[in-house]
Amino acid sequence: MSPRGWIPTKGMPGGSVDPVGAAAYRPPALRSPRNPDFVRKTVTLANGLQIGGDAFVVAAGPCAVETRELLLASAEAVAAAGAGMLRGGAFKPRTSPRSFQGLGEPGLALLTEASAATGLPIVTEVMDPRDVPVVATHASVLQIGSRNMQNFPLLREVGRQARPVLLKRGAAATIEELLAAADYILQEGNENVILCERGVRGFDPQTRYLLDLCAVPVLRQRTPLPIFVDPSHGTGDASLVAPMAKAALAAGADGLLIEVHAAPELALCDGKQALRPADFAELATELRRLAPLYGKRWSRVPREVSWRTGPSAPGSAVREGGDGNGRGLGRSSPGPFDDEVMAP
Ligand code: PEP
Ligand code: MN
Repeated sequence: MSPRGWIPTKGMPGGSVDPVGAAAYRPPALRSPRNPDFVRKTVTLANGLQIGGDAFVVAAGPCAVETRELLLASAEAVAAAGAGMLRGGAFKPRTSPRSFQGLGEPGLALLTEASAATGLPIVTEVMDPRDVPVVATHASVLQIGSRNMQNFPLLREVGRQARPVLLKRGAAATIEELLAAADYILQEGNENVILCERGVRGFDPQTRYLLDLCAVPVLRQRTPLPIFVDPSHGTGDASLVAPMAKAALAAGADGLLIEVHAAPELALCDGKQALRPADFAELATELRRLAPLYGKRWSRVPREVSWRTGPSAPGSAVREGGDGNGRGLGRSSPGPFDDEVMAP
């Protein structure tokens, strides 16, 4: 199937083009959940982790990779609390060029070490099209940050990779623009796109951004792609992360991106919004209890299974086979990748 091409449609809010529905995925049915043929897209990582559908996945870790010790401590903590993925930036988009810019490639190597130690797949940001190949050798999911949501050469480059992409909404981007940005990736042939709401600019400095949870059900109506929410950047305040994380689950999110730091007071960026490991563990326990109320099951891959499949094996970020919607992968019922059989 070729995902290329634009199909004008009538009656779409904000314009006459449906950027992610018909053109990208072929079946027009995908555009509306009310259509009985609607199929929610799932993304399955090489280690078997399912994203989307009935799965609820929490990606957690520090804002930035800083030191080996701090990263491993944070990674072990989030793995022990039940996170499905490890987040952490090696290439950091900072407002000032004088701020810590991330460790770059050595940071990627530390992420791979943390992944091997915990079994957690890595989601990490790539900012420069020239860095995409090296980041893709370390990451299971390529993150496009909010500042780069409309960096079109970068979107096209990640669209050519065999790696799922987590696309964050720009701080001043409309939902329509987010969908159009996703379409740049889809048009290059990469259908494994996860959208992420992370807050937009508001008028009230009380919170860092205005977390637009309304975007979740709106996106749900507009696209079959999995939808994540980042309550850390969306609020900028660790004390607000838990309530907004639970609200995101209730709004229908497929997962969360949460900043957790072993020692927030030592963090080189975003320490104010980072959860301490104990607070993250408490939140994870609550979310895990709540998820079934919203038709979701907590999704992570047991450490021993990750070891066997290799979370960052080059070229194997997405399982082969299946129909791109998580079917045909030999899993018709809950298996070893599901919460039900995960050791507590
Ligand atoms: C991040 O998640 O590391 C990040 C920089 O977030 P955002 O792009 O949403 O600001
Ligand atoms: Mn951050």
